[in-house]
Amino acid sequence: MPLYDYKCDGCSLRFEVDHPMSAEPVQVCPECGAQKVRKLLTTGGISVRTKSFGQSSSPPPMPSCATGGCGGGMCGM
Ligand SMILES: [Zn+2]
Repeated sequence: MPLYDYKCDGCSLRFEVDHPMSAEPVQVCPECGAQKVRKLLTTGGISVRTKSFGQSSSPPPMPSCATGGCGGGMCGM
């Protein structure tokens, strides 16, 4: 389900709401009740909390000369 970011101009509260795309957007602030809620742009419903998997950021293992991975002294070691 997409996650939407909202910000209240009344009390500066920022909050996230899960609701289907077909649902009405939130217009009333849950904190102060003001109808000054703005919908913020999100990156396609992908929350920043899902960016913690981090596995793809590690470099690939380098071939080692000891195992002949460099092709026979090509790396100069
Ligand atoms: Zn508010």
